[in-house]
Amino acid sequence: MKEIDWANLSFGYMKTDYNVRCYYRDGKWGEIEVCSEETLNIHMAATCLHYGQEAFEGLKAYRCPDGKVRVFRMDENAKRLQSTCRGILMPELPTERFEEMVKKVVRLNERFIPPYESGATLYIRPLLIGTGAQVGVHPANEYLFVIFVTPVGPYFKGGFAANPYVIIREFDRSAPLGTGIYKVGGNYAASLKANKMAHDLGYSCEFYLDAKEKKYIDECGAANFFGIKNNTYVTPKSTSILPSITNKSLMQLAEDMGMTVERRQIPEEELATFEEAGACGTAAVISPIERIDDLENKKSYIISKDGKPGPVCTQLYHHLRNIQYGIEPDVHRWTTVVME
Ligand SMILES: *Cc1c(COP(=O)(O)O)cnc(C)c1O
Repeated sequence: MKEIDWANLSFGYMKTDYNVRCYYRDGKWGEIEVCSEETLNIHMAATCLHYGQEAFEGLKAYRCPDGKVRVFRMDENAKRLQSTCRGILMPELPTERFEEMVKKVVRLNERFIPPYESGATLYIRPLLIGTGAQVGVHPANEYLFVIFVTPVGPYFKGGFAANPYVIIREFDRSAPLGTGIYKVGGNYAASLKANKMAHDLGYSCEFYLDAKEKKYIDECGAANFFGIKNNTYVTPKSTSILPSITNKSLMQLAEDMGMTVERRQIPEEELATFEEAGACGTAAVISPIERIDDLENKKSYIISKDGKPGPVCTQLYHHLRNIQYGIEPDVHRWTTVVME
């Protein structure tokens, strides 16, 4: 086998040795199957292909300086997947089964877990699809849950840095009472045009306002938003954003650090008042925001005056990463050692 160039991995797909699968048939989940095939053989009338019965998750396994391999809050991913299943009428996979399959797929692909020094990680992608054939709009009666893994490079190739964002008003990723709170593929299809627009304009990502009033902050692409001011961590309360596990963890850490945490509507104009702001999610932990441009209103909210990540973002970033890598004490018991 060719040696993997750990230092130059991107966020792309690389074939690994195994994936794990579990089928739902006749009203129950079957046994866990280990598979080395990369393809799925499904019916052309499967509901995932026509009516978007598709849910996914994303988490990582970290090779730590103590040699152990840890995963972060996988019970939260299991719970969020269950919530998504309730949202689009798919059968819920029990948390224990989800965790067993995550551990199994990581252990089976041990040789693809990047070394600690590389800054790379093993990305874990669970997905659940409706495989039963339907022509009318109905939920399927059969489902397939798959987890595959792929090694991915560090998000910040040139070190932790701040990025510019742009408010896009032409497109919404989700409606107030729609599927924004669920991790379903359809939300991503809805975001592709806005995302392309932002990239074509030279921004790192698109920034969404609430779909109904276009007044309040919603999300930064596929990441949650938070702002910092007066020793307070502020993050939007909305019915159209995905409940990020990273954001939930950062709220806890901010509180542990003696900060006040507020979850409330954030009017666009309030962006001018933040000392720091960031986009958060599993991929980057925190991607600090340099500025947010509102092209239509010819406004630019400069958040980082020197273009660098602020002290609170930096502290939160290192704190969470050090927990994920087993460097700092895991007082909230967020990590699971998958391999000793
Ligand atoms: C996955 C995702 C996030 C980040 O969630 P984490 O659990 O922190 O990785 C944020 N927003 C959207 C739209 C997402 O799909």
